[in-house]
Amino acid sequence: MRQSQAFIPTLKEVPADADIVSHQLLLRAGFIRQTASGIYSFLPLGKKVLQYVESVIREELDSIGANEMLMPALQPAELWHQTGRWDAFGPELMRLNDRHDRSFALGATHEEVITSLVKNELNSYKKLPITMYQIQTKYRDEKRPRFGLLRGREFIMKDAYSFHDSYESLDQAYETMYQAYSRIFTRLGLNFRAVIADSGAMGGKDTHEFMALSDVGEDVIAFSDTSSYAANIEMAITLDSYQESEASMLSLEKLATPNQRTMQEVSDFIGHSVEQGLKTLLFKIDQSFVLVLTRGDHEVNDIKLKNLYQASSVELASEEEAKQLLGAGFGSIGPIHSTEDIEIVADYAVKYIRNATCGANEEGYHFVNVNPDRDFEVSQYADIRFVKEGDPSPDGNGKLQFARGIEIGQVFKLGTFYAEKLDATFLNEQGKAKTLIMGCYGIGVSRTLAAIVEQYHDDKGIVWPKQIAPSQVHLLVMNGKKDDQVALADDLYQSLQSQGITVLYDDRTERAGIKFADSDLIGIPLRITVGKRASEGYVECKRRETGEQLELHHTEVKDYIQNFYQ
Ligand code: ATP
Ligand code: MG
Repeated sequence: MRQSQAFIPTLKEVPADADIVSHQLLLRAGFIRQTASGIYSFLPLGKKVLQYVESVIREELDSIGANEMLMPALQPAELWHQTGRWDAFGPELMRLNDRHDRSFALGATHEEVITSLVKNELNSYKKLPITMYQIQTKYRDEKRPRFGLLRGREFIMKDAYSFHDSYESLDQAYETMYQAYSRIFTRLGLNFRAVIADSGAMGGKDTHEFMALSDVGEDVIAFSDTSSYAANIEMAITLDSYQESEASMLSLEKLATPNQRTMQEVSDFIGHSVEQGLKTLLFKIDQSFVLVLTRGDHEVNDIKLKNLYQASSVELASEEEAKQLLGAGFGSIGPIHSTEDIEIVADYAVKYIRNATCGANEEGYHFVNVNPDRDFEVSQYADIRFVKEGDPSPDGNGKLQFARGIEIGQVFKLGTFYAEKLDATFLNEQGKAKTLIMGCYGIGVSRTLAAIVEQYHDDKGIVWPKQIAPSQVHLLVMNGKKDDQVALADDLYQSLQSQGITVLYDDRTERAGIKFADSDLIGIPLRITVGKRASEGYVECKRRETGEQLELHHTEVKDYIQNFYQ
């Protein structure tokens, strides 16, 4: 591609509304432009990189026997009504009416479409298992579209769906897809972790999210410093494995603690560490009140609570409700002498505290020397807290550390949720009608591109990994007015291309300084500059990543490039 004819509008200044590096650099280097909030055009270089990312995805999915197809973005509302998601998806679902006033959704995802499509076709166990995928534009009216391609309202997703006659078959496909995802993200050069995630409201069971590690990520993940264990912070497990205390139990006492409300204040007032405090929270789980206890330095994880109770809603009770039920506000409630019909659930760590402090259900008073099971009854101990950095990894190997991650993909065992709603059945070997079992698997293609830039840049611009750079070589002619330079550069441009090497050729009549700056910004791994020594046949080669440079005779250039890309 000759840059003089290419649409690569680079920007010197950092655009005011771009907060993160990938957004800034993709705009500045002329890869994307915003059309409306969360809606982007991919300019020629952006489109190229996108194609490379897509081709890696295609190769890996084709190699596991998944079928590529293309489904419509415009989806009839009836399908979404049948699964209940017309309402459940909420305002994120983009909706519109046709000229006959029939309602449609712009596809946010394609479970409804694919399930209704296959329901009459996959009617026998003989046709199962099967996996389909597409790379297609998705629409979600995100509340806060931001960070450029990371959270768009129109974005490109690879979505795949597998159909099975048994859960064993689903497990296998899930594992195969998990491995394919690992190969895809490895080939794309990403530093990522596959983390255990929450299957949430979709009625599924196992799910993993693939997270590109990055400080701008919205999710926090906990992972072992020595093993492959990794989980979303909400899902990371703590085991019932704390040190037994050797201290003997002292006798319970009630103490006035005027104006001491927080765990820290009370602990300081009494003169022990926060770890010795007993944190009591009143929750409303579905319709029942539950007292939830953790150690003072721990935080209740409501997703774990929700999963423990298999509840559909978990929320903190109001302070009014606490006063009514327990006789004190939030700062002074506790498990001792609470009304009998309130169940008490405690985190495992609580079992091991000796002589703790807790609220006395009386404004301005706390109990000290509190010992669980002696002074109050716990209906169950469970893992209900957030992990902390330094906690032991639940697989027994190493300690947990935290990092932020960008969710670039997800694999999900859906089960029969969609097939049931859409009445998608097949005949099993005995000729009996059974509901299809499903898995679904997404990759945020455009988001992945941004995640790559987050991991591959320096202060001058993008530093593309070799395998997805917009071209292999950036060829520059230093002075477009010098005939010998132009002649040699034109010659190299032709010959390299004829050897199958992809070249972006900066043949513009701009100043050399501008060309170098643009070249650094665009980030192609190798730069070849035809300059002052053109008449002798010498050119300069520079590696974008390391800045390493050397002079080569033009006859050596091809081998140098091929070596580099081996
Ligand atoms: P998030 O939690 O970030 O909103 P999600 O879990 O709702 O994402 P999925 O339904 O799992 O997203 O979609 C599959 C993939 O599509 C995600 O893993 C992510 O990489 C990508 N994706 C989702 N929403 C967006 C968006 N608004 N912009 C760009 N990519 C997105
Ligand atoms: Mg997801």
